[in-house]
Amino acid sequence: MTYDVIVVGARCAGGSTSLLMARAGLRVLLIDRADFPSDTVSGHMIKLAGVERLQRWGLLDAVLASGCPRIEGHIVDFGVQRLQVPSDPGALTPLAPRRTVLDDLLLHAAADAGTDVALQTSLTGLLSDGDRVTGVRLRDRAGRR
Ligand SMILES: Cc1cc2nc3c(=O)[nH]c(=O)nc-3n(C[C@H](O)[C@H](O)[C@H](O)COP(=O)(O)OP(=O)(O)OC[C@H]3O[C@@H](n4cnc5c(N)ncnc54)[C@H](O)[C@@H]3O)c2cc1C
Repeated sequence: MTYDVIVVGARCAGGSTSLLMARAGLRVLLIDRADFPSDTVSGHMIKLAGVERLQRWGLLDAVLASGCPRIEGHIVDFGVQRLQVPSDPGALTPLAPRRTVLDDLLLHAAADAGTDVALQTSLTGLLSDGDRVTGVRLRDRAGRR
């Protein structure tokens, strides 16, 4: 099989990259050795720039619908005094979805955009022609190479 791009790692980086490339018309294969939904070591904080991207990609409502907490303000600590700064009413706020939710949502959005997804599939090597990488070696969930 031939793809324009093969993305290894289907979590927040690989899922969103695949989503954007598939929407741009590229043939994309996204693989991960893990199964989804599954957790990974991480905090839950998405800063505002990330939340704005989720909105631009049409995924913010789905993240909010998962019931993930909004981070409604922050504390500025001057040492001698601490100020509690609330967020503006109605404004976007940082969010705190679990990775089981966020990564799975991005993966499904990438698949909806036309990305082929192979889970429990590991990259085991690269095929090259001189300096150029021309393909990948994979091992699927059944151990097939
Ligand atoms: C303790 C901790 C707290 C953090 N807190 C935050 C936070 O609050 N907010 C924030 O924005 N960031 C946080 N980060 C950073 C954040 O977790 C990472 O930036 C983010 O996980 C990177 O996402 P990723 O999709 O690039 O990779 P990862 O989430 O690391 O996913 C990589 C994927 O690649 C797959 N993979 C790897 N090798 C192969 C292979 N050979 N074949 C097939 N699949 C493969 C793995 O199975 C995995 O699913 C935190 C990180 C840590 C460690």
